[in-house]
Amino acid sequence: MKYVSTRGRAPEESFLGILRSGLAPDGGLYLPARYPHVAAAELARWRLLSYAELAAEVMARFADDVPREDLERLCQATYTAQTYGYGRPDSDAAQIAPLRWLADGLGLLELSNGPTLAFKDMAMQLLGALFEYVLGRDAAELNILGATSGDTGSAAEYAMRGRRGLRVFMLSPQGRMSAFQRAQMYSLADANIFNLAVDGTFDDCQDMVKAVSGDLGFKAAARIGTVNSINWARVAAQVVYYFRGYFAATASDDETVSFCVPSGNFGNIFAGWVARQMGLPVGRLILATNENNVLDDFFRSGRYRVRDAQETHITSSPSMDISKASNFERYVADIVGRDAAAVRELWWELDARGEFDLRPTPFWRRVQDSGFASGHSTHADRLATIRSVQRDSGVVIDPHTADGVKVARELRQPGEKIVCLETALPAKFEATIVEALGVVPARPAAYAGLEDRPQHCHAVPADAVFVKRYLAERIGLATTGGPAP
Ligand SMILES: *Cc1c(COP(=O)(O)O)cnc(C)c1O
Repeated sequence: MKYVSTRGRAPEESFLGILRSGLAPDGGLYLPARYPHVAAAELARWRLLSYAELAAEVMARFADDVPREDLERLCQATYTAQTYGYGRPDSDAAQIAPLRWLADGLGLLELSNGPTLAFKDMAMQLLGALFEYVLGRDAAELNILGATSGDTGSAAEYAMRGRRGLRVFMLSPQGRMSAFQRAQMYSLADANIFNLAVDGTFDDCQDMVKAVSGDLGFKAAARIGTVNSINWARVAAQVVYYFRGYFAATASDDETVSFCVPSGNFGNIFAGWVARQMGLPVGRLILATNENNVLDDFFRSGRYRVRDAQETHITSSPSMDISKASNFERYVADIVGRDAAAVRELWWELDARGEFDLRPTPFWRRVQDSGFASGHSTHADRLATIRSVQRDSGVVIDPHTADGVKVARELRQPGEKIVCLETALPAKFEATIVEALGVVPARPAAYAGLEDRPQHCHAVPADAVFVKRYLAERIGLATTGGPAP
Protein backbone atom coordinates (compact mmCIF):
# COMPACT_ATOMS: atom_id res chain seq x y z
CA MET A 1 0.00 0.00 0.00
CA LYS A 2 1.44 3.32 -1.09
CA TYR A 3 0.33 6.65 0.37
CA VAL A 4 0.28 9.77 -1.79
CA SER A 5 -0.30 13.42 -0.96
CA THR A 6 -3.57 15.07 -2.02
CA ARG A 7 -1.39 17.83 -3.55
CA GLY A 8 0.80 15.42 -5.52
CA ARG A 9 4.16 16.98 -4.75
CA ALA A 10 5.41 14.79 -1.92
CA PRO A 11 7.20 11.45 -2.14
CA GLU A 12 5.14 8.28 -1.83
CA GLU A 13 5.28 6.76 1.62
CA SER A 14 4.45 3.50 3.36
CA PHE A 15 1.98 3.25 6.27
CA LEU A 16 4.78 3.33 8.84
CA GLY A 17 6.35 6.18 6.91
CA ILE A 18 3.32 8.41 7.59
CA LEU A 19 2.44 7.04 11.03
CA ARG A 20 4.32 9.71 12.96
CA SER A 21 3.86 12.69 10.66
CA GLY A 22 1.04 15.15 10.19
CA LEU A 23 0.79 16.99 6.89
CA ALA A 24 2.69 15.81 3.83
CA PRO A 25 5.74 17.99 3.06
CA ASP A 26 3.82 19.69 0.20
CA GLY A 27 1.11 20.82 2.63
CA GLY A 28 -1.36 18.13 1.53
CA LEU A 29 -2.76 15.10 3.34
CA TYR A 30 -1.77 11.50 2.71
CA LEU A 31 -4.24 9.06 1.19
CA PRO A 32 -3.82 5.46 0.05
CA ALA A 33 -3.03 5.53 -3.67
CA ARG A 34 -6.00 3.17 -4.10
CA TYR A 35 -8.57 2.04 -1.56
CA PRO A 36 -8.43 -1.66 -0.74
CA HIS A 37 -11.49 -3.62 -1.84
CA VAL A 38 -13.31 -6.13 0.31
CA ALA A 39 -14.91 -8.90 -1.75
CA ALA A 40 -18.40 -10.20 -0.96
CA ALA A 41 -17.12 -13.52 0.43
CA GLU A 42 -14.71 -11.67 2.68
CA LEU A 43 -17.45 -9.37 3.93
CA ALA A 44 -19.54 -12.42 4.88
CA ARG A 45 -16.60 -13.81 6.81
CA TRP A 46 -15.89 -10.51 8.56
CA ARG A 47 -19.45 -10.48 9.94
CA LEU A 48 -18.48 -13.34 12.25
CA LEU A 49 -15.36 -11.76 13.71
CA SER A 50 -14.84 -10.20 17.12
CA TYR A 51 -14.06 -6.46 17.16
CA ALA A 52 -10.32 -7.08 17.68
CA GLU A 53 -10.20 -9.63 14.85
CA LEU A 54 -12.11 -7.30 12.54
CA ALA A 55 -9.76 -4.44 13.45
CA ALA A 56 -6.76 -6.58 12.52
CA GLU A 57 -8.37 -7.43 9.14
CA VAL A 58 -9.13 -3.81 8.32
CA MET A 59 -5.77 -2.50 9.55
CA ALA A 60 -3.92 -5.19 7.60
CA ARG A 61 -5.37 -3.66 4.40
CA PHE A 62 -3.82 -0.29 5.26
CA ALA A 63 -0.72 -1.24 7.24
CA ASP A 64 0.76 -3.90 4.99
CA ASP A 65 4.26 -3.03 6.20
CA VAL A 66 3.44 -4.28 9.71
CA PRO A 67 3.66 -8.08 10.05
CA ARG A 68 0.19 -9.57 10.29
CA GLU A 69 0.81 -11.36 13.60
CA ASP A 70 2.04 -8.12 15.17
CA LEU A 71 -1.10 -6.28 14.04
CA GLU A 72 -3.25 -9.04 15.48
CA ARG A 73 -1.44 -8.87 18.78
CA LEU A 74 -1.75 -5.07 18.96
CA CYS A 75 -5.48 -5.19 18.15
CA GLN A 76 -6.13 -7.94 20.69
CA ALA A 77 -4.31 -5.94 23.36
CA THR A 78 -6.18 -2.74 22.46
CA TYR A 79 -9.78 -3.79 21.95
CA THR A 80 -10.57 -5.36 25.30
CA ALA A 81 -13.72 -5.28 27.43
CA GLN A 82 -11.64 -3.67 30.14
CA THR A 83 -10.46 -0.68 28.06
CA TYR A 84 -13.90 -0.17 26.54
CA GLY A 85 -15.80 -0.89 29.74
CA TYR A 86 -15.97 2.61 31.25
CA GLY A 87 -19.36 3.43 29.80
CA ARG A 88 -22.93 2.69 30.75
CA PRO A 89 -23.35 -0.16 33.21
CA ASP A 90 -25.93 -1.82 30.93
CA SER A 91 -23.67 -1.72 27.85
CA ASP A 92 -22.09 -4.93 26.59
CA ALA A 93 -18.39 -4.04 26.91
CA ALA A 94 -17.29 -7.29 25.27
CA GLN A 95 -18.78 -5.93 22.01
CA ILE A 96 -16.42 -2.90 22.20
CA ALA A 97 -18.86 -0.89 20.04
CA PRO A 98 -22.35 -2.20 20.88
CA LEU A 99 -25.41 -1.10 18.90
CA ARG A 100 -28.56 -0.02 20.71
CA TRP A 101 -31.87 0.67 18.93
CA LEU A 102 -33.48 3.95 19.96
CA ALA A 103 -36.50 3.55 17.70
CA ASP A 104 -37.54 1.67 14.62
CA GLY A 105 -34.78 2.18 12.04
CA LEU A 106 -32.75 4.43 14.31
CA GLY A 107 -29.76 2.91 16.08
CA LEU A 108 -27.06 4.28 18.36
CA LEU A 109 -23.56 2.89 17.87
CA GLU A 110 -21.85 3.21 21.24
CA LEU A 111 -18.33 4.45 20.61
CA SER A 112 -17.77 6.33 23.84
CA ASN A 113 -17.21 3.61 26.42
CA GLY A 114 -13.41 3.99 26.40
CA PRO A 115 -11.27 5.63 29.10
CA THR A 116 -12.11 9.25 28.18
CA LEU A 117 -15.77 8.68 27.34
CA ALA A 118 -15.51 9.95 23.75
CA PHE A 119 -15.24 8.14 20.42
CA LYS A 120 -11.66 9.35 19.97
CA ASP A 121 -10.56 6.49 22.27
CA MET A 122 -11.60 4.02 19.54
CA ALA A 123 -8.67 4.97 17.31
CA MET A 124 -6.31 6.73 19.71
CA GLN A 125 -5.77 3.64 21.88
CA LEU A 126 -4.62 1.70 18.83
CA LEU A 127 -2.40 4.59 17.76
CA GLY A 128 -0.71 4.47 21.19
CA ALA A 129 -0.08 0.75 20.78
CA LEU A 130 1.28 1.24 17.25
CA PHE A 131 3.60 4.03 18.39
CA GLU A 132 5.00 1.97 21.26
CA TYR A 133 5.48 -0.95 18.90
CA VAL A 134 7.51 0.93 16.26
CA LEU A 135 9.46 2.94 18.82
CA GLY A 136 10.41 -0.24 20.66
CA ARG A 137 11.43 -1.93 17.43
CA ASP A 138 13.60 1.02 16.36
CA ALA A 139 14.82 1.86 19.88
CA ALA A 140 13.52 5.38 19.22
CA GLU A 141 11.67 8.11 21.07
CA LEU A 142 8.76 10.33 20.12
CA ASN A 143 7.49 13.49 21.76
CA ILE A 144 3.87 14.22 20.97
CA LEU A 145 3.10 17.92 20.92
CA GLY A 146 -0.55 18.88 20.69
CA ALA A 147 -3.18 21.48 21.42
CA THR A 148 -6.58 20.59 22.76
CA SER A 149 -9.87 22.21 23.62
CA GLY A 150 -10.85 19.07 25.53
CA ASP A 151 -11.47 15.65 24.00
CA THR A 152 -8.43 15.08 21.76
CA GLY A 153 -5.92 15.90 24.46
CA SER A 154 -7.38 13.57 27.02
CA ALA A 155 -7.82 10.74 24.49
CA ALA A 156 -4.16 11.15 23.50
CA GLU A 157 -2.93 11.23 27.08
CA TYR A 158 -4.91 8.15 28.12
CA ALA A 159 -3.67 6.31 25.03
CA MET A 160 0.00 7.22 25.53
CA ARG A 161 0.35 7.24 29.33
CA GLY A 162 3.02 4.92 30.67
CA ARG A 163 4.11 3.83 27.18
CA ARG A 164 7.81 3.39 26.56
CA GLY A 165 9.55 5.82 24.24
CA LEU A 166 6.67 8.30 24.30
CA ARG A 167 6.04 11.62 25.98
CA VAL A 168 3.00 13.84 25.55
CA PHE A 169 3.17 17.63 25.80
CA MET A 170 -0.39 18.92 25.61
CA LEU A 171 -1.26 22.61 25.48
CA SER A 172 -4.70 23.55 26.77
CA PRO A 173 -6.26 26.98 27.27
CA GLN A 174 -6.21 27.84 30.96
CA GLY A 175 -9.71 28.02 32.41
CA ARG A 176 -11.54 27.26 29.16
CA MET A 177 -12.37 23.57 29.48
CA SER A 178 -15.18 21.97 31.47
CA ALA A 179 -14.26 21.00 35.04
CA PHE A 180 -14.58 17.33 34.05
CA GLN A 181 -12.36 17.67 30.99
CA ARG A 182 -9.71 19.57 32.96
CA ALA A 183 -9.73 17.06 35.82
CA GLN A 184 -9.56 14.15 33.39
CA MET A 185 -6.31 15.43 31.91
CA TYR A 186 -4.67 17.14 34.85
CA SER A 187 -5.28 14.28 37.30
CA LEU A 188 -2.91 12.02 35.36
CA ALA A 189 0.32 11.58 37.30
CA ASP A 190 2.31 9.55 34.75
CA ALA A 191 5.89 10.69 34.29
CA ASN A 192 5.53 10.85 30.48
CA ILE A 193 2.51 13.20 30.47
CA PHE A 194 3.01 16.98 30.56
CA ASN A 195 -0.03 19.24 30.75
CA LEU A 196 0.74 22.83 29.85
CA ALA A 197 -1.98 25.26 30.85
CA VAL A 198 -1.59 28.18 28.48
CA ASP A 199 -2.52 31.71 29.41
CA GLY A 200 -4.54 32.17 26.21
CA THR A 201 -7.20 30.67 23.93
CA PHE A 202 -7.33 27.38 22.03
CA ASP A 203 -6.26 29.25 18.89
CA ASP A 204 -3.18 30.50 20.77
CA CYS A 205 -2.38 26.91 21.73
CA GLN A 206 -2.74 25.76 18.13
CA ASP A 207 -0.58 28.63 16.86
CA MET A 208 2.13 27.68 19.36
CA VAL A 209 2.12 24.07 18.13
CA LYS A 210 2.39 25.33 14.55
CA ALA A 211 5.25 27.65 15.47
CA VAL A 212 7.21 24.95 17.29
CA SER A 213 6.70 22.32 14.56
CA GLY A 214 7.38 24.95 11.91
CA ASP A 215 10.96 25.17 13.19
CA LEU A 216 12.03 22.08 11.24
CA GLY A 217 15.46 21.89 12.85
CA PHE A 218 13.96 21.88 16.32
CA LYS A 219 11.21 19.49 15.27
CA ALA A 220 13.74 16.92 14.08
CA ALA A 221 16.12 17.34 17.02
CA ALA A 222 13.30 17.09 19.55
CA ARG A 223 11.66 14.17 17.65
CA ILE A 224 8.25 15.84 17.66
CA GLY A 225 5.19 14.03 16.37
CA THR A 226 1.47 14.73 16.24
CA VAL A 227 -1.75 12.83 16.88
CA ASN A 228 -4.28 15.24 15.40
CA SER A 229 -7.29 14.09 13.42
CA ILE A 230 -5.49 14.16 10.06
CA ASN A 231 -3.33 11.23 11.23
CA TRP A 232 -4.08 8.45 8.74
CA ALA A 233 -3.79 5.64 11.31
CA ARG A 234 -6.64 7.25 13.24
CA VAL A 235 -8.82 7.40 10.14
CA ALA A 236 -8.03 3.75 9.33
CA ALA A 237 -8.86 2.59 12.86
CA GLN A 238 -12.18 4.46 12.63
CA VAL A 239 -13.14 2.53 9.49
CA VAL A 240 -13.45 -0.59 11.65
CA TYR A 241 -16.56 0.49 13.54
CA TYR A 242 -18.48 1.28 10.36
CA PHE A 243 -18.10 -2.40 9.44
CA ARG A 244 -19.01 -3.43 12.99
CA GLY A 245 -22.03 -1.11 13.09
CA TYR A 246 -23.19 -2.36 9.70
CA PHE A 247 -23.01 -6.01 10.79
CA ALA A 248 -24.80 -5.27 14.06
CA ALA A 249 -27.62 -3.47 12.24
CA THR A 250 -28.22 -6.10 9.55
CA ALA A 251 -28.85 -9.81 9.18
CA SER A 252 -27.26 -10.13 5.74
CA ASP A 253 -24.99 -8.21 3.39
CA ASP A 254 -27.81 -7.40 0.95
CA GLU A 255 -29.06 -4.57 3.12
CA THR A 256 -27.77 -1.03 3.17
CA VAL A 257 -27.29 1.07 6.29
CA SER A 258 -26.93 4.83 6.50
CA PHE A 259 -24.75 6.46 9.12
CA CYS A 260 -25.32 9.80 10.80
CA VAL A 261 -22.20 11.45 12.19
CA PRO A 262 -21.83 14.52 14.45
CA SER A 263 -18.97 16.22 12.63
CA GLY A 264 -16.25 18.76 13.19
CA ASN A 265 -12.97 18.10 11.41
CA PHE A 266 -14.56 15.56 9.05
CA GLY A 267 -12.34 12.72 10.34
CA ASN A 268 -15.06 10.45 11.68
CA ILE A 269 -17.41 10.67 8.71
CA PHE A 270 -14.51 10.45 6.27
CA ALA A 271 -13.78 7.00 7.73
CA GLY A 272 -17.35 6.08 6.73
CA TRP A 273 -16.60 7.27 3.20
CA VAL A 274 -13.51 5.04 3.15
CA ALA A 275 -15.58 2.07 4.38
CA ARG A 276 -17.97 2.64 1.49
CA GLN A 277 -15.08 2.88 -1.02
CA MET A 278 -13.90 -0.48 0.32
CA GLY A 279 -17.23 -2.02 -0.63
CA LEU A 280 -19.30 -1.82 2.57
CA PRO A 281 -22.98 -1.35 1.58
CA VAL A 282 -23.32 2.08 3.17
CA GLY A 283 -26.48 3.97 2.21
CA ARG A 284 -26.19 7.65 2.97
CA LEU A 285 -23.52 9.36 4.99
CA ILE A 286 -25.47 11.97 6.92
CA LEU A 287 -23.36 14.77 8.31
CA ALA A 288 -24.58 16.73 11.33
CA THR A 289 -23.12 20.03 12.49
CA ASN A 290 -24.03 22.44 15.26
CA GLU A 291 -24.29 26.21 14.73
CA ASN A 292 -20.82 26.03 13.18
CA ASN A 293 -22.28 24.78 9.91
CA VAL A 294 -19.32 25.12 7.52
CA LEU A 295 -19.82 21.58 6.25
CA ASP A 296 -23.61 21.55 6.19
CA ASP A 297 -23.35 24.71 4.10
CA PHE A 298 -21.01 23.01 1.67
CA PHE A 299 -23.16 19.94 1.11
CA ARG A 300 -26.22 22.14 0.56
CA SER A 301 -24.66 24.83 -1.60
CA GLY A 302 -21.39 23.58 -3.10
CA ARG A 303 -19.58 26.50 -1.55
CA TYR A 304 -16.90 25.83 1.06
CA ARG A 305 -16.26 28.93 3.11
CA VAL A 306 -14.00 28.72 6.15
CA ARG A 307 -14.70 30.95 9.13
CA ASP A 308 -12.41 32.98 11.34
CA ALA A 309 -12.26 32.98 15.13
CA GLN A 310 -14.87 35.77 15.44
CA GLU A 311 -17.32 33.80 13.31
CA THR A 312 -16.85 30.55 15.21
CA HIS A 313 -19.65 30.10 17.73
CA ILE A 314 -19.04 28.75 21.21
CA THR A 315 -21.74 26.12 21.56
CA SER A 316 -23.00 23.42 23.91
CA SER A 317 -21.45 20.77 21.59
CA PRO A 318 -17.99 22.31 21.84
CA SER A 319 -16.01 19.50 20.21
CA MET A 320 -17.70 20.46 16.94
CA ASP A 321 -16.89 24.17 17.20
CA ILE A 322 -14.63 24.34 14.17
CA SER A 323 -13.96 27.03 11.61
CA LYS A 324 -12.50 24.73 8.97
CA ALA A 325 -12.51 20.97 8.61
CA SER A 326 -9.00 19.57 8.45
CA ASN A 327 -9.85 16.22 6.81
CA PHE A 328 -12.12 17.72 4.17
CA GLU A 329 -9.29 17.97 1.63
CA ARG A 330 -9.16 14.17 1.48
CA TYR A 331 -12.79 13.95 0.39
CA VAL A 332 -12.32 16.71 -2.17
CA ALA A 333 -9.28 14.87 -3.56
CA ASP A 334 -11.50 11.85 -4.15
CA ILE A 335 -14.23 14.01 -5.71
CA VAL A 336 -11.82 15.55 -8.23
CA GLY A 337 -10.60 12.05 -9.13
CA ARG A 338 -7.27 12.54 -7.37
CA ASP A 339 -6.31 15.34 -9.73
CA ALA A 340 -3.62 16.92 -7.53
CA ALA A 341 -3.46 20.07 -9.67
CA ALA A 342 -7.19 20.64 -9.10
CA VAL A 343 -6.74 20.19 -5.33
CA ARG A 344 -3.82 22.62 -5.30
CA GLU A 345 -5.86 25.17 -7.20
CA LEU A 346 -8.86 24.87 -4.86
CA TRP A 347 -6.72 25.24 -1.74
CA TRP A 348 -4.82 28.09 -3.29
CA GLU A 349 -8.17 29.79 -3.79
CA LEU A 350 -9.18 28.94 -0.23
CA ASP A 351 -6.01 30.53 1.13
CA ALA A 352 -6.43 33.59 -1.04
CA ARG A 353 -10.18 34.20 -0.70
CA GLY A 354 -11.29 32.08 2.27
CA GLU A 355 -13.63 30.02 0.09
CA PHE A 356 -14.15 28.03 -3.08
CA ASP A 357 -17.29 27.19 -4.96
CA LEU A 358 -17.76 23.87 -6.75
CA ARG A 359 -21.14 24.75 -8.27
CA PRO A 360 -19.79 26.13 -11.55
CA THR A 361 -17.58 23.03 -11.93
CA PRO A 362 -18.35 19.46 -13.01
CA PHE A 363 -17.34 18.40 -9.49
CA TRP A 364 -20.58 19.64 -7.93
CA ARG A 365 -22.54 16.87 -9.63
CA ARG A 366 -20.08 14.35 -8.27
CA VAL A 367 -20.57 15.75 -4.75
CA GLN A 368 -24.33 15.45 -5.16
CA ASP A 369 -23.92 11.87 -6.36
CA SER A 370 -21.51 10.95 -3.58
CA GLY A 371 -24.19 9.84 -1.14
CA PHE A 372 -23.83 12.60 1.45
CA ALA A 373 -26.68 14.43 3.12
CA SER A 374 -26.41 17.03 5.86
CA GLY A 375 -28.21 19.08 8.46
CA HIS A 376 -27.46 21.21 11.48
CA SER A 377 -28.75 21.76 14.95
CA THR A 378 -29.00 24.54 17.52
CA HIS A 379 -28.78 24.67 21.30
CA ALA A 380 -32.59 24.47 21.56
CA ASP A 381 -32.60 21.44 19.21
CA ARG A 382 -30.02 19.69 21.37
CA LEU A 383 -32.02 20.21 24.54
CA ALA A 384 -35.24 19.04 22.88
CA THR A 385 -33.52 15.97 21.40
CA ILE A 386 -31.87 14.98 24.70
CA ARG A 387 -35.32 15.22 26.33
CA SER A 388 -37.24 13.30 23.73
CA VAL A 389 -34.70 10.49 23.42
CA GLN A 390 -34.70 10.13 27.18
CA ARG A 391 -38.51 10.11 27.24
CA ASP A 392 -38.97 7.67 24.35
CA SER A 393 -36.13 5.21 24.93
CA GLY A 394 -34.79 5.88 28.44
CA VAL A 395 -31.31 6.64 27.08
CA VAL A 396 -29.49 9.86 27.99
CA ILE A 397 -27.33 11.09 25.12
CA ASP A 398 -24.66 13.78 25.10
CA PRO A 399 -25.08 17.13 23.27
CA HIS A 400 -22.89 16.09 20.27
CA THR A 401 -24.75 12.84 19.78
CA ALA A 402 -27.96 14.84 20.09
CA ASP A 403 -26.90 16.95 17.08
CA GLY A 404 -26.64 13.69 15.14
CA VAL A 405 -29.93 12.23 16.33
CA LYS A 406 -31.74 15.49 15.54
CA VAL A 407 -30.50 15.49 11.96
CA ALA A 408 -31.06 11.73 11.50
CA ARG A 409 -34.69 12.03 12.58
CA GLU A 410 -35.21 15.01 10.30
CA LEU A 411 -33.72 13.38 7.19
CA ARG A 412 -34.69 9.73 7.65
CA GLN A 413 -36.53 8.30 4.64
CA PRO A 414 -39.22 5.61 4.93
CA GLY A 415 -37.61 2.22 5.44
CA GLU A 416 -34.13 3.64 5.86
CA LYS A 417 -31.93 2.19 8.63
CA ILE A 418 -29.79 4.89 10.17
CA VAL A 419 -27.06 4.24 12.68
CA CYS A 420 -26.12 7.35 14.69
CA LEU A 421 -22.59 7.41 16.01
CA GLU A 422 -22.37 8.21 19.71
CA THR A 423 -19.37 10.54 19.98
CA ALA A 424 -19.33 11.18 23.75
CA LEU A 425 -21.13 10.20 26.94
CA PRO A 426 -23.40 12.69 28.75
CA ALA A 427 -21.27 12.60 31.94
CA LYS A 428 -18.70 14.72 30.11
CA PHE A 429 -21.16 17.56 29.57
CA GLU A 430 -23.12 17.72 32.80
CA ALA A 431 -24.22 21.35 32.56
CA THR A 432 -26.14 20.86 29.30
CA ILE A 433 -27.73 17.63 30.54
CA VAL A 434 -28.87 19.41 33.69
CA GLU A 435 -30.32 22.17 31.53
CA ALA A 436 -32.19 19.64 29.40
CA LEU A 437 -33.34 17.12 32.00
CA GLY A 438 -33.00 18.85 35.36
CA VAL A 439 -30.81 16.03 36.68
CA VAL A 440 -27.08 15.32 36.73
CA PRO A 441 -26.29 12.44 34.32
CA ALA A 442 -25.05 9.16 35.74
CA ARG A 443 -21.29 9.11 35.95
CA PRO A 444 -19.28 5.94 35.30
CA ALA A 445 -17.95 4.56 38.60
CA ALA A 446 -14.30 5.06 37.61
CA TYR A 447 -14.88 8.83 37.54
CA ALA A 448 -16.50 9.31 40.93
CA GLY A 449 -14.84 12.26 42.66
CA LEU A 450 -12.67 13.00 39.59
CA GLU A 451 -12.62 16.74 40.21
CA ASP A 452 -11.32 16.21 43.76
CA ARG A 453 -8.18 14.34 42.71
CA PRO A 454 -4.85 16.16 42.81
CA GLN A 455 -4.14 17.94 39.52
CA HIS A 456 -0.81 18.38 37.76
CA CYS A 457 -0.17 21.07 35.20
CA HIS A 458 2.40 23.70 34.36
CA ALA A 459 1.15 27.23 33.77
CA VAL A 460 2.91 28.66 30.72
CA PRO A 461 2.60 31.93 28.77
CA ALA A 462 1.28 31.93 25.18
CA ASP A 463 4.83 31.97 23.87
CA ALA A 464 6.26 29.34 21.49
CA VAL A 465 9.86 30.15 22.47
CA PHE A 466 9.05 29.38 26.07
CA VAL A 467 7.46 26.06 25.09
CA LYS A 468 10.52 25.09 23.03
CA ARG A 469 12.79 25.68 25.98
CA TYR A 470 10.41 23.81 28.28
CA LEU A 471 10.42 20.82 25.94
CA ALA A 472 14.16 20.88 25.37
CA GLU A 473 14.78 20.78 29.09
CA ARG A 474 12.32 17.96 29.77
CA ILE A 475 13.70 15.73 27.02
CA GLY A 476 17.35 16.49 27.74
CA LEU A 477 18.05 18.40 24.55
CA ALA A 478 20.81 21.00 24.71
CA THR A 479 19.72 24.34 23.30
CA THR A 480 21.27 27.72 23.06
CA GLY A 481 18.73 30.40 23.67
CA GLY A 482 18.57 31.77 27.12
CA PRO A 483 17.87 30.27 30.50
CA ALA A 484 15.60 27.26 30.82
CA PRO A 485 12.17 27.96 32.30
C1 LIG B 1 -13.94 15.13 17.94
C2 LIG B 1 -15.39 15.10 18.22
C3 LIG B 1 -16.35 15.30 17.21
C4 LIG B 1 -15.97 15.66 15.78
O1 LIG B 1 -15.36 14.59 15.10
P1 LIG B 1 -14.57 14.88 13.71
O2 LIG B 1 -13.85 13.61 13.43
O3 LIG B 1 -13.62 16.00 14.02
O4 LIG B 1 -15.57 15.24 12.69
C5 LIG B 1 -17.69 15.19 17.54
N1 LIG B 1 -18.09 14.92 18.81
C6 LIG B 1 -17.19 14.72 19.81
C7 LIG B 1 -17.70 14.46 21.18
C8 LIG B 1 -15.82 14.81 19.56
O5 LIG B 1 -14.94 14.63 20.56
